[in-house]
Amino acid sequence: LTILGIESSCDDSAAAVVRQTQDGPRVLSSIVRGQADLHAAFGGVVPEIAARAHAEVLDHCVEAALSEAGLGMGDLDGIAVTAGPGLIGGVLSGVMLAKGLSAATGLPLIGVNHLAGHALTPRLTDGLDFPYLMLLVSGGHCQFLVVEGEDAFRRLGGTIDDAPGEAFDKTARLLGLPQPGGPAVEAEARQGDAERISLPRPLLDRPGCDMSFSGLKTALLRARDAEMAQAGGLTRSARADLAASFQQAVVDILAEKTRRALDLYLELAPARPALAVAGGVAANGPIRAALQALCAERGVAFSAPPLSLCTDNAAMIAHAGLARLAAGEADGLGLSARPRWPLDARAAPMIGSGK
Ligand code: ATP
Ligand code: FE
Repeated sequence: LTILGIESSCDDSAAAVVRQTQDGPRVLSSIVRGQADLHAAFGGVVPEIAARAHAEVLDHCVEAALSEAGLGMGDLDGIAVTAGPGLIGGVLSGVMLAKGLSAATGLPLIGVNHLAGHALTPRLTDGLDFPYLMLLVSGGHCQFLVVEGEDAFRRLGGTIDDAPGEAFDKTARLLGLPQPGGPAVEAEARQGDAERISLPRPLLDRPGCDMSFSGLKTALLRARDAEMAQAGGLTRSARADLAASFQQAVVDILAEKTRRALDLYLELAPARPALAVAGGVAANGPIRAALQALCAERGVAFSAPPLSLCTDNAAMIAHAGLARLAAGEADGLGLSARPRWPLDARAAPMIGSGK
C-alpha cells in the first residue's frame, strides 16, 4: 500500500509518500516548506497569512513529494490529510486540496488527527509495540499519552498553562537571545551556573502528571530584573546563569513528571516497555539526557525520532493514515476540518492515576 500525506495545520506546508512494505512502513519522500519568514515580522503565526500560503504551495509540495518518490498519482492507494486540530484556515487548505485530488482520482480520502500523527511516529521510526508511553513536548503542546493502539490514546496529564517550547522562546526574548529560543537558551546555558539563581518548580509537589510553566516565566522575569538592578544591566554571566537555571527547572519538572507517568504506564505491564519523545523541545540535550537516564534506571527503551520527523511533517500523517487505509476505511468527501480534536475523547480515566 502506498499513501500520500498532506499537512497544513500550523506554519509548515508538507506532503509525503509512505509505503507499507513487508519490513514495515517506509518513507519514500517527505517535503516540508516552512513559512517562518512570512510570520517573522508579526512575532507569531498569523492565521490568514498561513492559510493563504498553504493554499499557494501545497500542490507544489504534493508534486515534489511524488517526484522525489518517483511515483505518479496512479501509483497511490490513498490520500491522508490532517483534518485537525490546528488553525482552521490552514487545515481547510489541506482538506480542500485532498478532496480535490480524491474526487479527481477516485482514491480513498482519510482524515488524520495531527496529534495522532505525532504520537504514532515512533512506530514509523523505531517500530515500537503498543502500549508505549509518549511525551509530546513542543512549542504548543506538553502531554503524556499512553499509546495503546492506532486509535487508542490515554492522556495521563499535561501542562495546565503554557508549553515548555513557548517558555524557552519567552526566556530567550527576556534574555535578548534570538528565536527560536530553545537552541539559543540551551547554548547559553552551557556557559552558566544553574545553581546560583533559584527558580521555582511549579506543581512538583502535587500528585499526578500535570505540569505548569507559566509561573516559571514570571519568576525568570523577576530574577532577571533583580540581576539587572544589581549590576546596572544584564551582565554576560548573569544571562548565562539565568538561562542555565531556567533550563534546569524545565529538566527537573519534566524528569519528575515522567517518573510518575512511567509508574502509571508500567502498571500496564507492557511486554516491551518504551518511552518515546516528540516535539521540538525533545531536541534539548539535557532534557534528553535526563529522560534517557530515567529509562535506563527503569529498564524502559528510549525512543527519540530524528528532529525532521518530530517537528511538523506529512510523513507522520501518511503513516497514521495507513492503518485505516489497510482496514478499508475512508472518510469520503464529507470530511470536515476540526479546529479542536482531542486525542483521548473516548478514553476512560486511568486507574490509579492519582487525579
Ligand atoms: P506544535 O507542533 O505543538 O503546534 P510547534 O510547531 O511550535 O508546536 P515544534 O516545531 O515541535 O512545535 O517545536 C518548536 C519549539 O521547540 C520551539 O518553541 C523551540 O524553541 C523549541 N525547541 C527547539 N529546539 C529546542 C532545544 N534545543 N531546546 C529547547 N527547546 C527547543
Ligand atoms: Fe505539530
